[in-house]
Amino acid sequence: MLSIQNLNVEVENKLIINRLNLEIKPGEIHAIMGPNGSGKSTLSTTLAGHKDYHVTAGTIRFKEHNLLMLNPEERAGEGLFLAFQYPVEIPGISNTLFLQTAINSIRKYRKLEPLDSWDLIDLINQKINRLNISDKLLKRSVNVGFSGGEKKRNEILQMAVLEPDLCILDEIDSGLDIDALKIIARCITLLRNANRSFIVITHYQRILDDIQPEYVHVMHHGSIIKSGNFSLAKQLEEQGYDWLIK
Ligand code: ADP
Ligand code: MG
Ligand code: MG
Repeated sequence: MLSIQNLNVEVENKLIINRLNLEIKPGEIHAIMGPNGSGKSTLSTTLAGHKDYHVTAGTIRFKEHNLLMLNPEERAGEGLFLAFQYPVEIPGISNTLFLQTAINSIRKYRKLEPLDSWDLIDLINQKINRLNISDKLLKRSVNVGFSGGEKKRNEILQMAVLEPDLCILDEIDSGLDIDALKIIARCITLLRNANRSFIVITHYQRILDDIQPEYVHVMHHGSIIKSGNFSLAKQLEEQGYDWLIK
């Protein structure tokens, strides 16, 4: 699904990602943990294709593509999805219109007919019931005035509607109460299948308890300094990062 080799990324002429390697197979869930400022969001933003994040060394393969040759729209069309750590507010664009535009631009890339409004509403209704999202939020501008938890659930709604192959979730669990956390974990579990992969960036073991990632990685100073299985997350919860960093 994803193969990153010796990746260096510079932001504003500063090296942030430093010789990072990561291999993800279809169907796998990989958790990435690590102290603040270690480059987790930089990695996800780079994968999504933000123009200010400059890859200065290394390679990234996504499915059968050289990811670095694809623009952000092509990456989305090929099935890459990023749920933002800080979801963006888009005044004047209703959530429904946003979802319709997103899904139809992906369908266009795949040379499929666009969904009409009726199909779209059926699809969205199916998903919001699962996510416990009020249909009132659909008519409102994207994320404008949403609570922190509503914004995070809205990111997951986008993921559920777009059905991507590679889902990158940047701190999707930060600031959520236990009920919202359960809903998000359940939605990830429902979307999980043999052909879909997840990168779950988190500071907490709790969501990992529910989604049971195959691999847990620790990032520090732009590299993965330790990889292990789920028991590594437990160890980090108990002991913090100091023992690793030293
Ligand atoms: P994490 O997500 O692990 O907390 P980030 O990727 O957000 O870490 O940040 C890693 C480092 O890169 C930090 O020192 C941060 O200040 C820097 N950085 C990230 N994005 C930018 C940017 N757009 N401009 C300048 N510095 C940035
Ligand atoms: Mg952070
Ligand atoms: Mg971050």
